Amino acid sequence: MIDPFGRRISYLRVSVTDRCDLRCVYCMAEDMTFLPKREVLTLEELDRLCGAFIDLGVEKIRLTGGEPLVRRGVIGLIRNLGARIGGGGLQELTITTNGTQLPKMADDLYAAGVRRINVSLDTLDPAVFKAVTRWGEIGQTLDGLFAAKAAGLAVKINAVALKGVNEGEYDRMLAWCGEHGFDLTLIETMPLGDISGDRMDQYLPLSVVRDRLRAHWTLEATDYRTGGPARYYTVKETGRRIGFITPMTHNFCESCNRVRLTCTGTLYMCLGQEDAADLRQVLRDPEAGEAGLRAAIEAAMLRKPKGHDFVIERRQAKPAVARHMSVTGG
Ligand code: SAM
Ligand code: SF4
Repeated sequence: MIDPFGRRISYLRVSVTDRCDLRCVYCMAEDMTFLPKREVLTLEELDRLCGAFIDLGVEKIRLTGGEPLVRRGVIGLIRNLGARIGGGGLQELTITTNGTQLPKMADDLYAAGVRRINVSLDTLDPAVFKAVTRWGEIGQTLDGLFAAKAAGLAVKINAVALKGVNEGEYDRMLAWCGEHGFDLTLIETMPLGDISGDRMDQYLPLSVVRDRLRAHWTLEATDYRTGGPARYYTVKETGRRIGFITPMTHNFCESCNRVRLTCTGTLYMCLGQEDAADLRQVLRDPEAGEAGLRAAIEAAMLRKPKGHDFVIERRQAKPAVARHMSVTGG
């Protein structure tokens, strides 16, 4: 699949549910209203849709959410997709998770063919963890992380940089990741969804964070790229990678290789734009069949925009993009 700007689309992110067992302050309001079940694709429908994308050239799939691992029966979908790794056209299946379910699921994920996971952990301080996730206990996520490591999964930690919240912790987190063999990615907050509170209060530019880290660490630039909005460095002292995801301060759109599918079958061609294609309708249309589904996906690719337009402005009462991160999964 090639879009109008010559970019090959080979990466699909799939949000398998909008629900979550945590309520991170930058992601959700505490009293979130979730989608009615009938609007959410069944796991069979998600499987069929992912299969169509693989047939059209998608080589990497990342499952996300909401919290993907809280969806009942999700391991069945993971096994089916895992079975397509290699000869079935898929190169890699990865998962972004908050880690709470990993103590019981890590071995099953490995057995299904998953080799790498991203685990969100914004802090190593139990009280800050509680404050950020509202409902979480750090012990559960840490147990999950170590279960994943023991199962043989490569772990990357995702931490959202939050001004005045985890701002003083990055040196310690980098050292801790080095100690345990994890890569670390810091993420700038993005203006997605109404979360009650002022975005400017949370926004911390990663250019500032990177300069501060350089006081204690040697960050060697690498050409490692994933086609997404991350820049990676090797930390000389630990040998691990650190990534900086800076969607607001850096233009990464020219190398974008991905599209995002929500659990309702809505396909977003760009994280920062509202335009979307409704694939659920064609998926549930008995007349359409596989050819119709394929045609709908191909038509959507032609609508992939050149780039996005995020701005966090104090005067702006509304978020730049109205949907929450838990809808598209980041
Ligand atoms: N529940 C899983 C998790 O937390 O990893 C997967 C879904 S979560 C929406 C995916 C990633 O998006 C997490 O790393 C989370 O920290 C990040 N995220 C959520 N809201 C964000 C926001 N407004 N700005 C930047 N990153 C955000
Ligand atoms: Fe849940 Fe992940 Fe959003 Fe936190 S960031 S509320 S864990 S979906």
